[in-house]
Amino acid sequence: MSEEKDPKDPNDPFQELQKNLQDIFKQGKVFMPFPDSPVGQSGVAQKGEQEPPKADDEEGKKREEVLQRIREFNLKPKEIRDYLDRFVIQQKEAKKVISVAICDHYNHVRQCIENEELKEQDYAKQNIILLGPTGVGKTYLMRNIAKLIGVPFVKADATKFSETGYVGGDVEDLVRDLVKNADGDTDLAQYGIIYIDEIDKIAGKTEIGGRDVSGRGVQINLLKLMEDTEVNLQSQTDLLGQMQAMMDFQKTGKPRKKAISTKHILFIVSGAFDRLEENVKKRVTSSTVGFSAINEQSESEKENYLNLVETLDFIDYGFEPEFIGRLPVRVNCLPLQPKDLMQIMTTSEGSILRQYVLDFDGYEIELDVEAEALELIAEKAYEERTGARGLMTVLERVFRDFKFELPSTYIKKLKITKDTVADPQSVLKQMLHDNVDSHRVALRDEVKSFAERFEQQHSFKLEFSREAIDTLVDESIQKDKTIRALCEKKFRDFHHGLTLISRNTGQRVFQISEKVAQDAEKELSAWVVSSYRQAEKDSQAKE
Ligand code: ADP
Repeated sequence: MSEEKDPKDPNDPFQELQKNLQDIFKQGKVFMPFPDSPVGQSGVAQKGEQEPPKADDEEGKKREEVLQRIREFNLKPKEIRDYLDRFVIQQKEAKKVISVAICDHYNHVRQCIENEELKEQDYAKQNIILLGPTGVGKTYLMRNIAKLIGVPFVKADATKFSETGYVGGDVEDLVRDLVKNADGDTDLAQYGIIYIDEIDKIAGKTEIGGRDVSGRGVQINLLKLMEDTEVNLQSQTDLLGQMQAMMDFQKTGKPRKKAISTKHILFIVSGAFDRLEENVKKRVTSSTVGFSAINEQSESEKENYLNLVETLDFIDYGFEPEFIGRLPVRVNCLPLQPKDLMQIMTTSEGSILRQYVLDFDGYEIELDVEAEALELIAEKAYEERTGARGLMTVLERVFRDFKFELPSTYIKKLKITKDTVADPQSVLKQMLHDNVDSHRVALRDEVKSFAERFEQQHSFKLEFSREAIDTLVDESIQKDKTIRALCEKKFRDFHHGLTLISRNTGQRVFQISEKVAQDAEKELSAWVVSSYRQAEKDSQAKE
């Protein structure tokens, strides 16, 4: 005889768990992997996070436009290249190969949408492997392409995944992240781009952060993902999601399946592949055929053996043949030279230097960087050996103190010369020294601003004498404190004290002399005492 379960048994631990979970869902902003689930419909779903945007609102319109663009994809490789040229400097070959791969991929997507039968036919996806050192624009290229087409983009390091998905992450999380980036819109996410960096670190069996992680296992998991597979939007490691599915199952009696196909997701993997160049060099120079091939290369190409990389080199490096076989498009991104770094600063639409110009503009300070200074910045950035990231390091070093000091002065023009780049601290010191008079003017104005704020807040007028202002300005410079902080501390008790005085004498305007500025508290006490004496005298006189 089977045991029947009372549907409302208060001692049933599952019901208790279910109730607790429902409370959590009601209270919090929890990401709903299943937007149309009963929980998702409860009204707690946050707009844009769980619900796919409705076609009649602004977001919905944008989404429709993007989907329409994909359905009617008609960009030509050269158009993509031209767009990339606006942001990414150099990497000519990479731009060419990637532009073609992107066009092939999205043309195929369009053809599949137009012709259902095509969907069933085999097609070798144009997944891309990008080789090259850090900071040379590999991610930047792909991010810009995703932006151009309007598809969601996700980037992760291969090292964060483990074979089981329990120790590290689960590779399928990448697809779920794509859905999150598309605001829960699976229609759009299925055409997204997934970028996996540090792929060279999962070659063979590797040690990652002391953990022994089977790189081979991760490769096999990724391989499945790169093929046409269905990814359940509910993660194996997402306890909350699993509980919710359990609740759904209990309610409907059917397991809930909501999945997304990876058929049209484009995968890009990248890595520095440090040892690869050396291995290829050995192979090429030890074989006569290879040797004659290299002799035909130009001088600069000779140095870059990565251009000659073959499938076997990747297999020797520790990759599964099937895995590397799923990455038919191979691109080599070249290291950036000082002249390239210089060009990034001056011509790239995403140049970090433009950000600094805008940052200073926020304080109405005009930034002007001389050509010689740019050259030196580029040289110093090159020495960092981190590609264009070196620019961020060097520019931050050059500008850090200027950004801190200048907004509090009257200096409205900052000219960066070679000397500024070589020794920013000394140049700034000299600049502040040369502008000490205008700096004092700025500080004097701050004292006036303090008095204005004080009057607005407390309806008492503080009239600072010239000597009092000078005293405060001197103290501000000497202690390296802003006038605002200095005055707020010094005149902290004035509101209270002046209220008492005003009650006694009706006085609302107060003269701040040098003496008061020097020892405000002591003078305020004296004022208060004398106001009481005055009040007493006045009342005696009246009597
Ligand atoms: P990686 O090659 O390691 O993926 P990124 O593409 O993330 O490097 O580059 C980091 C940043 O440096 C980018 O966001 C971009 O601002 C800048 N950058 C890198 N390479 C280039 C390039 N070739 N042209 C213009 N900017 C670049």
